[in-house]
Amino acid sequence: MSEPAKLYRPGLLGGMSWESTALYYRWINEGVRQKLGGLHSAPLLMNSVDFATIEALQASGNWDAAGDALATAALELESAGADFIVICTNTMHKVTDAIEARISIPILHIADATAVAIKARNVQTVALLGTGFTMSETFYTGRLISQFGLDVLLPTAPEQQEIHDIIYQELCLGVINAESKQRYLDVIRSLSHQGAEGIILGCTEITLLVKQSDLTLPVFDTTALHAAATVNTMISGEFVLTHAV
Ligand code: GLU
Repeated sequence: MSEPAKLYRPGLLGGMSWESTALYYRWINEGVRQKLGGLHSAPLLMNSVDFATIEALQASGNWDAAGDALATAALELESAGADFIVICTNTMHKVTDAIEARISIPILHIADATAVAIKARNVQTVALLGTGFTMSETFYTGRLISQFGLDVLLPTAPEQQEIHDIIYQELCLGVINAESKQRYLDVIRSLSHQGAEGIILGCTEITLLVKQSDLTLPVFDTTALHAAATVNTMISGEFVLTHAV
């Protein structure tokens, strides 16, 4: 096992929800142990917010205040010695610019980690499941399209609402429901019939509900991919390569 001179320390912005942040914590530690062996574990920092506060700001459309809260939390991570920031939610990448403006360390973007994995599988048309914000706005799909040249398929508006509600009313509370899983699988099947060659689990809690073993088409689990990219950056000090169109 190779022994890097230094591990770059990620600063995790967590708690959105903690159900998925717990997976990040486990998977980053497992990744470091796998790469470095023995008793190696991840020297990471975490700032875990109260999701009720953030969710209230999202629901009321107060994104400036949400961005300000996360920028403050990121600054605390930087002051504590983090070398880069990992925002442990797809949705809150909506306020990436507001965070970036306040810190001087880089952000490892979840959509980049995901898109690189999609390109590596030679998938061109990909379906996206996530919160209503992630699916219906352009801060996420725009990046996949303009920076990586991907084609993105979305569920219908009523399906988006259902997927969104299951995230906030069940998954973020740790509730795993067989009927909800079936609804997700039905939506994925329909997107596959429309031409999706792969499916992005574009909310960090969806991995609690839907797994690669449930499906034949490739699943791009943003939680797992972002955690794996974090481990790579910790060891190399480099960010995932971005594919120019
Ligand atoms: N963790 C979720 C995501 O990846 C949703 C919770 C949030 O609004 O941050 O988008």
